[in-house]
Amino acid sequence: SLYEKVKIEGGGELSRLCSNFNVISYKLSQIEHQRREFVHNVSHELKTPLSSIKLLIESLKYGTYEDVNIYKEFFMDIYGEVDRIKQIIDDLMIVVNIDENKSHINLELTYINYLIEKLISRMMLKAKEKNISIIYKEIDNIQIKVDNIKIDRAITNILDNAIKYSNENSNIYIYLYNEEKYAVIKVKDEGIGIPQEDIGRIFERFYRVDKARSRKTGGSGLGLFIAKELIDLHGGDIVVESKEKEGTTFYVKLPLDLN
Ligand code: ADP
Repeated sequence: SLYEKVKIEGGGELSRLCSNFNVISYKLSQIEHQRREFVHNVSHELKTPLSSIKLLIESLKYGTYEDVNIYKEFFMDIYGEVDRIKQIIDDLMIVVNIDENKSHINLELTYINYLIEKLISRMMLKAKEKNISIIYKEIDNIQIKVDNIKIDRAITNILDNAIKYSNENSNIYIYLYNEEKYAVIKVKDEGIGIPQEDIGRIFERFYRVDKARSRKTGGSGLGLFIAKELIDLHGGDIVVESKEKEGTTFYVKLPLDLN
């Protein structure tokens, strides 16, 4: 082939140039592949709730129900699907900002305890629907500089998963403590757990363990990707331990000396 010929005749420098060129074009094709996959996934994620809305509206259009409550239920379902779409778009906006390095970090001295209490009370209703108890314990009083909105978002995503992937009548434990140079927020659930072979991939964008199950539980597959990115921005770390059918524990570690 022409390439082989150039490589042989050109010897040292040209051959190195060629192989560099090959590496670059390989990387470009990888990026292109990821981009396509991303667009494919986004379209699919948005299509699912939109199809449901369409169906629900059609049922309303042709249905002649005596009971007003049935209409109310339809509207509530539509509302739920619209909310899902909003959630996906919000997630996408965050991802776009992360990709463009536009996510400015706005550090403020924060009582982490206060931040956690606030987000737990926001998630309480969702937990109650499954009769899940959230047990929170502040072991150390920690006041550090963080971007409030971003850390709230990261922990909310993790707690949201803990509720989503837990069975009814179970407990979720949250602890806040110091460990070496880090503030640690531990979120432990008694849920379905994550299979060993998937655990290394759950922080990838759009990765979901069980596609069929996840579809029912909702979500965009972006939650943990976003959580990890936001924690990385703080110079922190996120660690997961899990056992199938027993539960999952996430440790969010934030540097104590972030300025
Ligand atoms: P999703 O929107 O699907 O929840 P995430 O990025 O938040 O996306 O999580 C990725 C996948 O990791 C989930 O689809 C689920 O399979 C798994 N997962 C995350 N948290 C838990 C948990 N607490 N227990 C069991 N599985 C979990």
